Amino acid sequence: MVARIAAIVVALTLSGCTTCTQYISRPTITTPTGEKQCARHRIPLVTIPGFTTRQRLRDLKQRQIVLYHTYYMQLVVETCNPNSTRPWYSLTRKTPFTVASSVTYCPKCQQAVDANLASPNPFRMPSRWEQIRSGVYIPESSRTCSNHLTRR
Ligand SMILES: [Zn+2]
Repeated sequence: MVARIAAIVVALTLSGCTTCTQYISRPTITTPTGEKQCARHRIPLVTIPGFTTRQRLRDLKQRQIVLYHTYYMQLVVETCNPNSTRPWYSLTRKTPFTVASSVTYCPKCQQAVDANLASPNPFRMPSRWEQIRSGVYIPESSRTCSNHLTRR
């Protein structure tokens, strides 16, 4: 069994198969015409009127960097779909997203993230195969992580 898994990993590596972790440093591509596209789906990003929080405006004004932590299957899905909306934006007006703002995202990335969040357990531990296929590995020591916003 271990030999079979190792053979699959080697085959994927040798075939030039890339994983989702490549999108961490390069979530978008710019075409020769200057159009910004999703690096995964190769479709143009969409910018539409949406909403953000008052805190987000303060963060931008103060040049604060906000790190967003997610975990388990949601981490895998967000890594593989790097241009979904960030947690401080919403496409609909609702508390606390009350400030009008433009939102840029990839519709296919957003669809995948929304589908995972609508699943019965969006923060389940991904299977070994899901980790290998995505290149997003969940260390055993991360089981105590929580989903929250961290300010620097
Ligand atoms: Zn996308």
